[in-house]
Amino acid sequence: MNIAIVGTGYVGLVTGTCFAEMGVNVTCVDIDERKIQKLKEGIMPIYEPGLDDLVTRNVKAGRLHFTTDLTTCLDEVEIVFSAVGTPPDEDGSADLRYVLEVARTVGQNIKKHVVLVTKSTVPVGTAKKVRAAIQEELDKRGVNIEFDVASNPEFLKEGAAIKDFMTPDRVVVGVESERARKLMEKLYKPFTLNGYPILIMDVPSAEMTKYAANAMLATRISFMNDIANLCERVGANVDNVRKGMGADSRIGNRFLYAGCGYGGSCFPKDVKALVHTGLENGYHMQVIEAVEAVNEKQKHIVFDKLQTAFNGDLQGKTIALWGLAFKPETDDMREAPALVVIQELLKAGATVKVYDPVAMDECKRRIGDVVTYCKDMYETVIDADALALLTEWKLFRLPSWAIIHRAMKSHVIVDGRNIYDGEELKELGFSYSRIGQK
Ligand code: NAD
Repeated sequence: MNIAIVGTGYVGLVTGTCFAEMGVNVTCVDIDERKIQKLKEGIMPIYEPGLDDLVTRNVKAGRLHFTTDLTTCLDEVEIVFSAVGTPPDEDGSADLRYVLEVARTVGQNIKKHVVLVTKSTVPVGTAKKVRAAIQEELDKRGVNIEFDVASNPEFLKEGAAIKDFMTPDRVVVGVESERARKLMEKLYKPFTLNGYPILIMDVPSAEMTKYAANAMLATRISFMNDIANLCERVGANVDNVRKGMGADSRIGNRFLYAGCGYGGSCFPKDVKALVHTGLENGYHMQVIEAVEAVNEKQKHIVFDKLQTAFNGDLQGKTIALWGLAFKPETDDMREAPALVVIQELLKAGATVKVYDPVAMDECKRRIGDVVTYCKDMYETVIDADALALLTEWKLFRLPSWAIIHRAMKSHVIVDGRNIYDGEELKELGFSYSRIGQK
């Protein structure tokens, strides 16, 4: 089977590579010439565990190709996936500019039937717009070519993207025709053969499923952060509360961690877009609006705790930050809490020293040299007044506290991810605070 994937970012590159691994002949397309050139040279544009080897193997096997020009493969493919970005517009709605651009390119160039499958996260109703964009281009050409549109939202998590794609909890596919259904079932056959379920449904439901799933996950995080903030005020410990709640099988124990707020390329923008879809349809999504408001507040909590530790005066203080990426195992810093903490610390007159095992270049690209980039986690704490943990990378889990204590000027630790043992740190002479426990 021949397919094309347009947009070679986190989702497109992982999708294309994993289908190639299943024996499909895949052409990955991107308008970013540098990205495609790098991929041709075997250099990964993103950090994703396991991706490097998989790409190399499939390129070598001749099943995975990279190009900047979709038209070079359109005649051979049965399915075109659109995995381009859908960033938030100024009003919070999803910007569909790239998705519709792909649709128009398809309409301008197809000579035979294809299914254009939207893998990007797009609001309900997008498939209709995609269909109209293709049809408009076909009309301009004065040709009558049959085509299908479909929806196949992606649920992979950055940092575990390959595993999530290869062993999905479910594959959701929205189709409008029997022909598209058969093609999608054929493409996903290697997965269904292994017992992973494919849920075929109507297109609006498939589009909505993705937003509902992300909004639910974001809700769990904001809910726990709200509970955590109350725990601090009433003398409870949110970690005990989490265990007590999570043991209820109706609730479950996953995604119930309090922290310094969610970030990333998906939750923030998808929550905003869902609120916007509600407004466009005369419906006020009250729960989801609150989820976003709680998260915005939570991103400031590490800064607030640092300020409290220094009686409101951070002027001239040196603050070490561990972790920049919005979560471990990725270099993605989109909407990362670290960006908010850094900005506030600098505004308050502090000097900021940072370390992240993979997101240092990404941070430099985003904010430049306004902070000091350290060569390892221990260099950040030399002469620091405080250390704050923002991303729970494994290497930060069991540091040598004795070295850190000797290196620091004063001994304040703010644990934005609740991974350290407060009792131990207090015994070692640190002043320690975490989320959701006084
Ligand atoms: P990304 O920004 O990493 O990649 C998008 C790519 O599309 C970029 O490389 C860009 O150059 C390319 N592009 C834009 N317009 C193009 C065009 N006309 N032709 C060819 N290429 C074009 O984005 P991403 O994180 O992979 O996300 C893509 C979509 O998938 C978004 O809608 C996102 O919400 C959704 N999604 C993302 C994740 C995730 O974890 N990142 C998970 C599930 C769903």
